[in-house]
Parts: sequence; C-alpha cells; structure tokens
Amino acid sequence: MQTLRDYPAALRQTADVTTGTVWTEALAQTGSPAVLVNRAHFSPGARTCWHRHQRGQTLIIESGVALVQEEGGPILELRPQQILECAPGVNHWHGASGDHAMTQFAITTADGQYATWGQLVTDEQYYAGRR
Ligand code: MN
Repeated sequence: MQTLRDYPAALRQTADVTTGTVWTEALAQTGSPAVLVNRAHFSPGARTCWHRHQRGQTLIIESGVALVQEEGGPILELRPQQILECAPGVNHWHGASGDHAMTQFAITTADGQYATWGQLVTDEQYYAGRR
C-alpha cells in the first residue's frame, strides 16, 4: 500500500501566463523526464497565454466548454470527455469559452520545463469569429 496523501491546494495562476482567473492543482508528478498531471479550472473567458510544450500535452476536458487553438488553425470547441493531443513544440492556447467555466486535466511531459510561454491571447484572437 502506498502513501495516501491530501488533495493539493489550488494555486492561482499569474497574469504573465494567463488572462482571467485560472486555478491549478498539481495532482501528480512521476518519472524522469517528469510526467505532470494537473487539473485546471478556468473562469468564463479565462485562457492561457500562447505557449508550447517541448514534449507535447494531453488535454482531457472534465466539465464546461473549452476553447483550444493551435497557431494558424481554427479555434476548436471541446466538451467534457473529449481529449486533445497537443503536438510537441506547437504553439497553442487553451481556456474556457466566454460564457462557461471549464475544468481540464492536463498531462504534460516536462523535459526541464513545463512550458515555454509567449504572448497573451488578445480579446481579438480569443473572440475571432465568435461575436
Ligand atoms: Mn498547453
């Protein structure tokens, strides 16, 4: 029997890597390179900055309505139980839709760092084609 531990405290993500209110819970970190399992809660309209993961990322939508975009591609709307594989090194962002909160699990292999962060997703980018 392995150690039973408490559910981790939620951490508020900072405005240099997100727009709006985003809380994350670091559920697990195992192996080398480290595989990280995070649960993230996005308020309506909240989203990450543009970023890339050196070894890619799996996003599992748990609740709400998610928006995801890879650079140069359309904004995808994802629903609970949909799973998206973000390819290694591809610039992207993810977040909640404008009128629904969203919770996701993110599985990320972090080879040195979790993500390489870029620019904020502007309202013009976020709402492109949606209003
Ligand atoms: Mn990502």
